[in-house]
Amino acid sequence: MPSLLNVYNTLSAQVEKFEPLNPPFIGLYLCGPTVYGYPHLGHTRGPIVFDVIHRYLNYLGYKVRFVRNITDVGHLVNDGDEGEDKIAKRAKIEQLEPMEIAQHYTDAYHFCIDRLNVKRPSIEPRASGHIIEQIEMIKIIIENGFAYEANGSVYFDVLKYAKTNDYGKLSGRILEDLLAGAGEARRELEGQEEKKNPNDFALWKKASVEHIMQWPSPWGQGFPGWHIECSAMSAKYLGKTFDIHGGGMDLLFPHHESEIAQSTACNNVNPAKYWIHHNMVTINGQKMAKSLNNGILITELFEGNHPLLEQAYSPMTLKFFILQAHYRGTLDFSNGALKAAEKGLQRLMSAIKTLENLVPAESSSFEVKELKQNIEDALNEDFNTPIALAHLFEAVSWINKINDGNAALTTSDLDFFKAFINTIVFDVLGLIDEQKEMGTNLVDPLMQILISMRNEAKAEKDFKKSDDIRNKLLDAGFEIKDGKEGTTYNFTKK
Ligand SMILES: [Zn+2]
Repeated sequence: MPSLLNVYNTLSAQVEKFEPLNPPFIGLYLCGPTVYGYPHLGHTRGPIVFDVIHRYLNYLGYKVRFVRNITDVGHLVNDGDEGEDKIAKRAKIEQLEPMEIAQHYTDAYHFCIDRLNVKRPSIEPRASGHIIEQIEMIKIIIENGFAYEANGSVYFDVLKYAKTNDYGKLSGRILEDLLAGAGEARRELEGQEEKKNPNDFALWKKASVEHIMQWPSPWGQGFPGWHIECSAMSAKYLGKTFDIHGGGMDLLFPHHESEIAQSTACNNVNPAKYWIHHNMVTINGQKMAKSLNNGILITELFEGNHPLLEQAYSPMTLKFFILQAHYRGTLDFSNGALKAAEKGLQRLMSAIKTLENLVPAESSSFEVKELKQNIEDALNEDFNTPIALAHLFEAVSWINKINDGNAALTTSDLDFFKAFINTIVFDVLGLIDEQKEMGTNLVDPLMQILISMRNEAKAEKDFKKSDDIRNKLLDAGFEIKDGKEGTTYNFTKK
């Protein structure tokens, strides 16, 4: 199929025509979470951005194998080669097995990301389940002369690699600059003396007796370095070279630069053709940091349960808010911005309801196909969701005009219009009509139980109880009304 899609490739720092290696198949690898804590707002942008990329590739007719890993070993505090493993540290604090920690926080991650209607990956491999693959890869890198063993640990030889390869080609870091800064690092960090050069990074680390996560290897008991898991698992499930590797811009260096170096040193090929990186999020203009107490958990956002939040925001409000910015641009969370997103989403959803009830006319007063083309053009230009949304809101005003009798569509144009608006909104952007969902899930039967309890209390003249139930429901956003056809309710909060 001819490709009309253009993507920004971090590797070339240019927008390139997207030409998959083996169409219609696409291999997509995304660095997943390190599961040692509850997910916060910063963890939502990657899954949402790559969900739209995944869904849009499907829309274009591609068959995508989407791999997103779970890091459950090897990611040390401060993202370096020294110090405690993040999972092991949490396991000690909570007095649980490391794998209990990994499972608990993987479940928490799934719970939050599922609510955002992000499609699960085709394969979700864990680092701890691929120790053998990582050891095999390290063995080949040593054989090829790009890594060395020192005191039970194995390090990647950055200087040796840089002699024949461009180390820094992804992140733009220049080796000379790294070397200049490395002297400082050598003085500050203990344990660096095993390395030939401070820029060398660990492929395998020797485990002390008390280290609670360790495996046997040709170099003794130990555990893998942080970067090697992604190289080993992407090669296993997508091949030595595949189409797209994604992640946040914070992973460019050292994580992704190291992945390229490892895969090239092992397989002699650059692992991914296109490298796609999303930008980070800030809160009220500031970076998220423990010291600022602005690390809002995803569940806190959904419940409105954080000092920085003026109200609760629904999963789709968050998703819509993230899609309003281009994925490479910065994104700042604030109550004002989220409230505006909530309003915009409501306008879109109510227009889609109106669309279902529009009546066709004899002739059409505007070009529906042009609207569809504009939305596709926007998404073809490096997945530009804000421009696609702007065209969707053009569609919203047409819907309202038709409803007011100020515009018209023929039966076939109206059918076309309905089909593509629904496809773009629900299948490609992955939004959900939350109010509609609300009516179809458990809320309605539960409300009927509460209403009958309240009406029984009323019949027994226990007005304190009946008023109490009504007021508590009102606080929760459900307004009860007594009418000719019995008691009904509506949801007042969005
Ligand atoms: Zn990774």
